[in-house]
Amino acid sequence: IPPATLAELGLRVQELVTRVSDFIDGQRRPVMERRASPVDAPAPDVTPRHRVWLVGSSGPAWQALALQLGYFNIDAEFHQVRHLPGQGDEPAIVLLSAGGLGSRQTVEQVQQLRARFAASTLLVHELAGDFDSLRAALSAGSDFCFPTGTAQPVIMAKLIELCSGKVEAPLRALVVEDSITASKSIQRTLAMCDIETHAITQPHEVLNCLAQFQPDLILMDMFMPGCTGVEAARVIRQHPEFLSIPIVYLSGDSNVPLQIEALRLGGDAFLTKPYNPVVLNAIVQSKIERYRALRRAMLHDGLTGLLNHKASKEQLAAAIRQAVAGQQPLAVAMIDIDHFKKINDSHGHPMGDQVIRSLAWFLGQRLRKTDLVGRYGGEEFLVALPGADRARALEVLDRIRHDFSQIQHPLNETWCAATLSVGLTQLGDSPDAQTLIKQADEALYAAKRAGRNRTVSD
Ligand code: GH3
Ligand code: MG
Ligand code: MG
Ligand code: MG
Repeated sequence: IPPATLAELGLRVQELVTRVSDFIDGQRRPVMERRASPVDAPAPDVTPRHRVWLVGSSGPAWQALALQLGYFNIDAEFHQVRHLPGQGDEPAIVLLSAGGLGSRQTVEQVQQLRARFAASTLLVHELAGDFDSLRAALSAGSDFCFPTGTAQPVIMAKLIELCSGKVEAPLRALVVEDSITASKSIQRTLAMCDIETHAITQPHEVLNCLAQFQPDLILMDMFMPGCTGVEAARVIRQHPEFLSIPIVYLSGDSNVPLQIEALRLGGDAFLTKPYNPVVLNAIVQSKIERYRALRRAMLHDGLTGLLNHKASKEQLAAAIRQAVAGQQPLAVAMIDIDHFKKINDSHGHPMGDQVIRSLAWFLGQRLRKTDLVGRYGGEEFLVALPGADRARALEVLDRIRHDFSQIQHPLNETWCAATLSVGLTQLGDSPDAQTLIKQADEALYAAKRAGRNRTVSD
């Protein structure tokens, strides 16, 4: 590579590094802050708006999409590839319509946009769905493609997901190891990949520690005084909540029958010491990712991606414990769509599903990341707002109720509107989830009896 090109590349890489770290600084909040009781200011009055550029022409479809995006705090701007505004004003998401473009034109436009918006997510809409068109668009720099005929809710779901920018919690491993030197070395190794660790030397502390530290994986020494790693793993596996947490053994013993026995009795992998740090990190990361994906599927509802019934009750109990410990208020609400049966009956079940999905998106957009939102039943949602008292929650939820009623939920060529009733209560003398849910439910029934489309607090 000629020296001048090398220097140019160096500058570009430097610029990229600066941009990436600015982005990360903007996203990342200190770990302790994230894990501490979530009592930052109660839900903001107006959530920050996101921006999407719709590039190219797609007629009324663009207008309809822009209208829908507006309901979910996403501003759409229309542009043409040939007349893009000057540099310096870059949207996070660019959506190009390939409708009416030939395959060469599509590739050229994607390349042009990629060059202009180096850091944006680039999506292509109305692309031919065959293998070659998809491959060409992706290779030209598109991040995601929607073939012609993709339903609008699918595009909406993707845009909303991209805008919600959920930050993954750091990976967390528990080290059970009697040698402090060995556990320090493991902790240093995992820290190279930003994996948080907590180490214990006494295997009998493991159950308490699992509950408190909530790791995604356990690294287990094989030989410890008074208890082997396999015995500790068997005790852990007696508890249903820890049935699937990955356990990786680390042992100086390379005896194969012992390893097989250890895996049979509740382990997931066996590494011998001295371990290769790169391999250890790779195994820990991939096991954790798989475990998190499994937990996501177990705890979240398929239609909306929100916490499911069981998980929302468990999260509510956790939120109550935190509120009590931190002496903070906690508001709890039950939200139910009004006359939902009529929506199903007159527009069909898919429209009903779309309204449920819209409400889930809407709640996700309007509430804080630290608030709890779960799909409690068919068209019933459980919400908890840590740090918010009754008056504050009433204000926030009633605005959500009002704004939701303004949405036109689209499906194919038609649309419908829906209203909500909200029953609200707050944490009082009996700090258990069941009581709070019952109180919120009673308030909800009062709202229904009073004529629906309203928020009632007990
Ligand atoms: P109300 O204002 O009193 O709440 O009236 P409602 O019609 O909403 O009352 P109800 O709770 O009895 O009806 C809920 C209906 O929601 C019944 C069920 O068929 C339907 N439902 C439940 N889950 C789903 C779902 O996932 N998708 C769709 N489309 N419908 C669902
Ligand atoms: Mg040991
Ligand atoms: Mg209902
Ligand atoms: Mg209901």
